Amino acid sequence: MIKYNFNKKAASILTAVTISCTVWSAAPVLADTEVQKYTNTDFAMDTVVSETLYTTGEDINTEIGNKLREIESGLLSWTDEDSQIAKLNASAGETTEVSEELAGYLARIEQLASDSDGAFDPTLGKVIRLWDIDGEDPHVPETSELDALLKDVGYQKVTLDGNKVTLAEDTTLDLGAVGKGIGCDVISDFLKDQKEVEGMILNLGGSSVFAYGHKPDDSPWKVAVTDPRDTEGDYLGVITLEGGEFLSTSGDYEKYFMEDGKRYHHILDPKTGYPVWNGLDSVTVICDSGLLADGLSTACFVLGREDALKLLEKYNAEAAFVDEDKNVYLTDGLKDRFELMKNTYTVKDAE
Ligand code: AMP
Ligand code: MG
Repeated sequence: MIKYNFNKKAASILTAVTISCTVWSAAPVLADTEVQKYTNTDFAMDTVVSETLYTTGEDINTEIGNKLREIESGLLSWTDEDSQIAKLNASAGETTEVSEELAGYLARIEQLASDSDGAFDPTLGKVIRLWDIDGEDPHVPETSELDALLKDVGYQKVTLDGNKVTLAEDTTLDLGAVGKGIGCDVISDFLKDQKEVEGMILNLGGSSVFAYGHKPDDSPWKVAVTDPRDTEGDYLGVITLEGGEFLSTSGDYEKYFMEDGKRYHHILDPKTGYPVWNGLDSVTVICDSGLLADGLSTACFVLGREDALKLLEKYNAEAAFVDEDKNVYLTDGLKDRFELMKNTYTVKDAE
């Protein structure tokens, strides 16, 4: 069995993603001589983090990495038993009080689950563990095993009452589909209080990115989009971001294993418990929230291009869908912001 984890793969690729964010930036000719550029590569939230900061103050990249690690260990991790999610899972069947912060995230997550008709579902925890795509024993489970676990899956099995949360007995939360996006939101909020920061681009493993503020020369922020079938080769394209925008990509190339010529990847259909095989290789979403960009990219991957469009419209989000026939479908708002880098792909209208 061949197993892949895009996020954990040699840091070199991800460093290349970092470079891609700066290669297309103009050279740092500083309009304001006091603005300094600080770049850093770190590891947090199970992925390589690359940071490019423009500030008149101190280099706060290490602090930013620490904040991301705190979100993981204190809030989102299902393995760290001190995290709020691990505690919630351990007390399924009872009512648990969570922080206002987590209650706020869960409210938005439940709304997205409902708006996507359950395509995005935060209660797949046990099914994800069974596949163990990211772990020691990735394997194809029996359909009967999946069916047995699916009875405890369903976003309706989470009840929210202010900051009191009740998970149905045997239901397990997994916020893997929005974790990096939440990380981006937390850092974005933190930056708003750092008056000396002029701009930043933060890239979590190439799959969640946000741009904040502006560069000293006001040139646009640019982010590379990975070719889902050539993850170590040249990029598929480049997307321009405004300060305040968040980008997330969900793809079947990020975590998967191959067996009998079939690609078993990490984005699951909550109705069947199996990976989604609908002809899409990746979906990239851009909007004004990290949690939503991340959650929407997962939801849109599950829904498929046509059903995804209504959901994107509701959230005022743009998207690029890459399919197995080497088409890149762009929503209207992305047409002037996407630059194709590979002539093996064809750009088409998504709408
Ligand atoms: P992403 O890379 O953001 O699309 O997130 C994928 C991760 O979210 C997986 O590794 C699982 O932990 C989890 N996941 C898989 N399928 C779903 C789904 N349909 N809804 C919500 N989370 C999912
Ligand atoms: Mg996601």
